[in-house]
Amino acid sequence: MIKTRFAPSPTGFLHVGSLRTALYAYLYAKKHNGSFVLRVEDTDRARLVEGSIEAMVKSLAWGGIEIDEGVTLDPLGNTVQLGDHGPYIQSERLPIYKENMDVLLEKGHAYHCFCGKERLDEVRKMQELNKMPTGYDGHCRELSKEEVDAKIAAGESHVIRLKMPKEGVTKFTDMVRGEVEFKNELIDDQVLMKSDGFPTYHFAVVVDDHLMEITHVIRGEEWISSTPKHIMLYEMFGWEAPQFAHLSLLVNEQKAKLSKRHGDVAVEDFKEKGYLPEALVNFISFLGWNPGDDREIFSLAELEKEFDFDKVAKSAAVFNREKLAWYNKQYIKGMSNIDFARHSLPYLKNAGLVGDDVDMEWLESVVALEKERMEVFTELPESLGYIFATELEYDPELIIWKKATKEESKEKLEFLYEFLKNFAFWKQEVLEDEMKKWIQNNNFGVGDVLWPMRTALSGRKNSPSPFEIAGVLGQEETLKRIKKGIEGLV
Ligand code: GLU
Repeated sequence: MIKTRFAPSPTGFLHVGSLRTALYAYLYAKKHNGSFVLRVEDTDRARLVEGSIEAMVKSLAWGGIEIDEGVTLDPLGNTVQLGDHGPYIQSERLPIYKENMDVLLEKGHAYHCFCGKERLDEVRKMQELNKMPTGYDGHCRELSKEEVDAKIAAGESHVIRLKMPKEGVTKFTDMVRGEVEFKNELIDDQVLMKSDGFPTYHFAVVVDDHLMEITHVIRGEEWISSTPKHIMLYEMFGWEAPQFAHLSLLVNEQKAKLSKRHGDVAVEDFKEKGYLPEALVNFISFLGWNPGDDREIFSLAELEKEFDFDKVAKSAAVFNREKLAWYNKQYIKGMSNIDFARHSLPYLKNAGLVGDDVDMEWLESVVALEKERMEVFTELPESLGYIFATELEYDPELIIWKKATKEESKEKLEFLYEFLKNFAFWKQEVLEDEMKKWIQNNNFGVGDVLWPMRTALSGRKNSPSPFEIAGVLGQEETLKRIKKGIEGLV
């Protein structure tokens, strides 16, 4: 069975780049009816941020990515662990690492190192001065068993390092990059176990991926230079290594690494801004992958079928915010009006424009005014504010049609007031038909009537048509606003 995993360190929010890593791993597992695992890599104790796991799992779930095995949340929001290869939180696996480390030491593939920070700094300084590659110089590599035992017995602080072979090359076939090769002599004797008894990432990742039966490791390209160390560990243990796929970097339009300094990067931020999860996931799926033709709209279920690594690009993927907005627009257009109204409600409520008692049927017609042109939900309070206003504020001059005088515009509004007052049945389509006939029968210019009407109803230069606005405002409010328009033109 294909098994992939997402292995975040709980150091904060879910970055959109991590969402892509998780998404590709998830899609690949689903495509092959496999299993998607979430493992928490919390061995770097100094960088832990309380609550990050919960936040990350929530962000994944918001995007539709469900976890089959490993760490997830129960319906009450508490972390739980599913599956029989646990625990899935590295800090709960210390005895497992210790046991496996003993095996590695026993086989002679790892060694105790007693070098303190001072000596290591000194070595590095000398290497830099001599323009040599920096790294551990192997000082403790050949200590005898007696020397090691004596130092440990004397309570000397130590780490355990990988005894990296000094000759040969380590090769692997990356699912994105093809053949990758590293010279062993350039690879450091990596610390595998820290002095506090915690494993480093490099040791824990190999032990866990093996014991959790991960078949495909999908991760960011920043890990590619670590992969030969991992492959070496698999060989030393006599384990079969998984397949690897290293995903290219995400960059902004200026080709710089996508970071918080250049705008939103957390999945949560996009959620709050009013992006739809389907739109964000569809957009993210295209950062480095495409189906090989011109289709752009894919649901998660469709992605599960279509996604594959043969179409994942090696080059950096540009996070184009305009494209994301385009995706959001497409998904908004595809929503039913009632769904759209339900989605809009919290944004309007937050802005204090509507209360809990709002008539949803009415709200549906109100928000429909913006559905075709809106990019994100956070725009709504601003773009629809005039509908909810009890008193519109605008410059009375706005009402004057550019091809008419003040008096003429005022007169048209007065005629209009008298005409609309008598309507017994108020509906956008009826209004539109009747008004058009009325304009024609009276030989009025269309702009002469509709511009003053529209601006009086919206208080804005740009807005939907006056019929649409009048339709949602209702007769009483429409007449009130027209009256105010007339009174402003003195
Ligand atoms: N904990 C690592 C990270 O957060 C995971 C790297 C990997 O997937 O192997 O980037």
